[in-house]
Amino acid sequence: MTENTSSANSQRVLVVEDEPTIAQAVADRLAAEGFAVEIACDGPSAVERARTYVPDLIVLDVMLPGFDGLEVCRRVQAERGVPVLMLTARDDETDLLVGLGVGADDYITKPFSMRELVARVRTVLRRFERAETSADTPAAPELLRLGPLEIDQKARRVRRDGHEVHLTPTEYDLLGCLVRHPGTVLTRALLLEQVWDWADASGTRAVDSHVKALRRKLGADLIRTVHGVGYSFEVPE
Ligand code: CA
Repeated sequence: MTENTSSANSQRVLVVEDEPTIAQAVADRLAAEGFAVEIACDGPSAVERARTYVPDLIVLDVMLPGFDGLEVCRRVQAERGVPVLMLTARDDETDLLVGLGVGADDYITKPFSMRELVARVRTVLRRFERAETSADTPAAPELLRLGPLEIDQKARRVRRDGHEVHLTPTEYDLLGCLVRHPGTVLTRALLLEQVWDWADASGTRAVDSHVKALRRKLGADLIRTVHGVGYSFEVPE
């Protein structure tokens, strides 16, 4: 038997999911990884637990009784900036949510492996900490200019033709990876490893859906698809 190693220093995760077996499996795995975990199983109780438990991250299912995950995300984010990892039923649901600009930091499509989930939770937490740290240090911005794009690497902000484009942390990291190798085809597996920290190619559709989101936000002319291989960043002439 392993004893519960959660301490007062553990990062807290609120798991919001109305399927009891999924909720319990996710909670058990996160607890085994050293997180403190609580479960909420409908919209109203999720908002309430977010207020009283003050989680460091919320794993949030979209379809919930009461009101849905989008509404939970809106209400929680209105009170306090907390990273949200959304659980979606299908990739097109992810695309829809990304398009709506729901304010989730990342999305994972069911069915997912527990290993994937833990990797995503850690990545989102790490990114959130990094973003908070850079927000605390208003030093001289490191500006990267690529055609119509301007990337402020310190503040993690992006402008296209002078207009600010709001990217999620995952979208920003994906763009960052692509622009470091302009004109070079990067495979989905490589992007998955660099951006999501996944060691295998099991979630390459996540790459596709985030590229789609980047194109929607930045314009379709910057990222070229090389069918069956991957993507490359092209600086327009
Ligand atoms: Ca559900």
